Amino acid sequence: MEKDAPHILLINPWIHDFAAYDFWAKPLGLLTIAAILRAHGYSVTHIDCLDRFHPKLAQPQKTGEFGKGHYLKSPIPKPESLPDVARTYSRYGIPEALFRKSLEQGPKPDLVLVTSLMTYWYPGVFALIKIVREIMPEVSVLLGGIYATLCHDHAAKHAGADQVLSGADEGVLLDLLDGMTGFATRRQFVSDDLDTYPYPAFDLQHAIPYVPILTGRGCPFRCAYCASGFLNSQFTRRSPAHVIEEIVDLHEKYSVKDFAFYDDALLIDGDRHVMPILEGVIRRGISVRFHTPNALHIRPITKEVADLLFRAGFKTIRLGLETAFFDHRETLDSKVGPREFERAVSYLKKAGFEEGQMGAYLLFGLPGQKIEELKASIKIVKDCGVRPVLAQYSPIPHTALWEDAVSASRYDLASDPLFHNNSIFPCQKEPFSWEKVSLLKKLTQ
Ligand code: SF4
Repeated sequence: MEKDAPHILLINPWIHDFAAYDFWAKPLGLLTIAAILRAHGYSVTHIDCLDRFHPKLAQPQKTGEFGKGHYLKSPIPKPESLPDVARTYSRYGIPEALFRKSLEQGPKPDLVLVTSLMTYWYPGVFALIKIVREIMPEVSVLLGGIYATLCHDHAAKHAGADQVLSGADEGVLLDLLDGMTGFATRRQFVSDDLDTYPYPAFDLQHAIPYVPILTGRGCPFRCAYCASGFLNSQFTRRSPAHVIEEIVDLHEKYSVKDFAFYDDALLIDGDRHVMPILEGVIRRGISVRFHTPNALHIRPITKEVADLLFRAGFKTIRLGLETAFFDHRETLDSKVGPREFERAVSYLKKAGFEEGQMGAYLLFGLPGQKIEELKASIKIVKDCGVRPVLAQYSPIPHTALWEDAVSASRYDLASDPLFHNNSIFPCQKEPFSWEKVSLLKKLTQ
């Protein structure tokens, strides 16, 4: 480590929740910031509290299909504000003692950056910041990420960080860090040109069993239940060549086989984006597998796109259907129309995809949602030979559906982000019932 380079420690916090599973998740935003800081001469270290592959874990975690898997889980007391939820609440991720040891034994940082994800996971963030404060009280802690952006005032009031940052502008962050550390850097990238960004620093992780990948940021749609437009006001993309090089580089350097696209709008404008990316990967002759946990848009799936997805090595396809009912759907979204789902599925099947590879997300727990409609949607999806995947709705501040969610909830949603937790079906008046949920989940099988 250079003597005069400030040292920034970047931390991905624990998840505190009733359930969590690793669907190819990595702290992409944090690892991108790490790469940018390194490229500008900073020293960086990283602690990932969700690291399933930490070499000091007493029991190495089992890896599931394509690299997915369970996080280590330690039951903890349930938040007092959720007495009506009869489920075990847990900390997911590395044991607290291992986190403390990593902090105590690692090089002392000049500054700590903590990221955050779902709004209702903030207790894991707070617990972590408290420990950082206890072990290194003189070091400033900056909190960013999705919770910090969506619930800025809550985070500023309660998180215990020195600063809470909103938004995803790495240029603003770099200026802030330069100012706080007195380190003078010259900007090596352009904020709205993603091709000028370095690749996320996956090498900071203990293992790279899979890689989540973003070929762009944002989405041209504005669905009423989604915060994509608030988190990324612009729809920006990398060039196909930049994406192909990253995939080939990770495959050749680290033998990565599984890549999960986390784009909000991977297939939009496919002729100029996803098609050249996939054709490029095929031309390079590498054997990789692709997954789409964040759902693909249905409308752009033409025969050509379906064929290319199959030839390029997509193994799990998730489709963003949300509901198979189209009466008044425009109040929710306009991303899919009648018959488009059936048409897309027929193209995917003809391309070679088997039933077990395809799933369609159906939103469950929307304000005012009729269970009969959900049951009928499940049947329509199954009749097409696709697995219905229930996506439990989480109310999100700054979305068009937020006010409806607040009115429909049995909780005071605005008072505490814990109430946004989709596991507790916050937008229903009656308390959470395992029986009802299990019954619906059974219908999807
Ligand atoms: S299309 Fe998907 S990512 Fe875009 S706004 Fe709708 S739900 Fe969000």
